Amino acid sequence: MNNWIIIIDERRAGGMLDAARRLGGQVLAAVVGPRALAEDMAKLGFDRVLCFETAEGVPAEAYAAQVADAAKAAEPRLVLASDAPISRTLLGAAAVKLNAALIGTVRALAVNGERIVVSRSAAEGKVLEDVEVQGPLAVIFDGEDIEVSSAQPAPVELIPVGEPGAMLRLVETSESGAESAGMLTAARVVGVGMGLRFREDLKLIEELADAMHAEIACTLPVCDDMRWFPAHRVVGSSHNQIAPDLYIAVGISGQPQHTSGIRDAKVVVAVNNDPEAGIFKKCDYGILGDLYKVVPALVSAFKNIG
Ligand SMILES: Cc1cc2nc3c(=O)[nH]c(=O)nc-3n(C[C@H](O)[C@H](O)[C@H](O)COP(=O)(O)OP(=O)(O)OC[C@H]3O[C@@H](n4cnc5c(N)ncnc54)[C@H](O)[C@@H]3O)c2cc1C
Repeated sequence: MNNWIIIIDERRAGGMLDAARRLGGQVLAAVVGPRALAEDMAKLGFDRVLCFETAEGVPAEAYAAQVADAAKAAEPRLVLASDAPISRTLLGAAAVKLNAALIGTVRALAVNGERIVVSRSAAEGKVLEDVEVQGPLAVIFDGEDIEVSSAQPAPVELIPVGEPGAMLRLVETSESGAESAGMLTAARVVGVGMGLRFREDLKLIEELADAMHAEIACTLPVCDDMRWFPAHRVVGSSHNQIAPDLYIAVGISGQPQHTSGIRDAKVVVAVNNDPEAGIFKKCDYGILGDLYKVVPALVSAFKNIG
């Protein structure tokens, strides 16, 4: 009985290893990327680490057939991958070869006799569903990441991959013009909601973001209805997921479609003038008050601490 985890970067690797461990059997990392990434994964506590070492200028997707063939030969009961687009592509290829059930937004795994029980979020994150699966299973993992490590790193096994670049080769990388990368990886993010009355009031939010060295994100209506920000600034179920250390939600009601995008934020602070606002049930610290008074006070406080 073995379980495979397809890895293209560190994203959710510890969480996936922990989830797969709950099923029993060996857990193997199939790393598609540089050798250094495979060596990092070896330190997390996988039983085996296979490395499909990517060649310079060849995207990870070029190795989909090799990964799928290797999975087919090993016949794992479970193949996991993170929700990153490239991981999902590789997982899909393996799932087809394995004739496996394919299921997404999975938060946790368990066993019930011969069956795997998959706990996945549904209805925009409002509910969790448990689904029992018989037979091989491919899972897009969307659960929490956790830190894991092992005192005894597994040896890295290099898998011969031939010449995958003949089919797929990166020919050019250029700036896309989108600014979202900063927001996606920022340690601090200020989220703007419909509590803001006028476009000019964005000055307030910019001052706060400057004072706390943060990026700015927004809710869907601030983008779609008000047109104050482009779509790549929207956080939530239909757009971006972010995981900053600190998220300050300003004038945001806390609908699940938005808060599902900040599920992995470490600390959430909400500023809202409605004591009944749902965001107050989903934040670590709530400031009940008019944002036009609270935000300038926060700007001064952040300026004082530098
Ligand atoms: C299929 C689908 C997908 C969706 N996907 C997303 C998504 O990815 N991301 C997303 O964000 N939304 C998404 N939505 C929309 C979502 O359901 C909510 O409508 C949206 O998140 C609400 O945005 P908001 O909190 O800015 O506005 P509102 O719900 O209008 O909240 C504004 C808040 O500001 C507060 N406020 C008002 N004045 C002040 C003041 N002076 N001081 C302090 N607080 C004040 C109010 O009390 C209120 O709580 C989706 C909806 C659907 C149907």
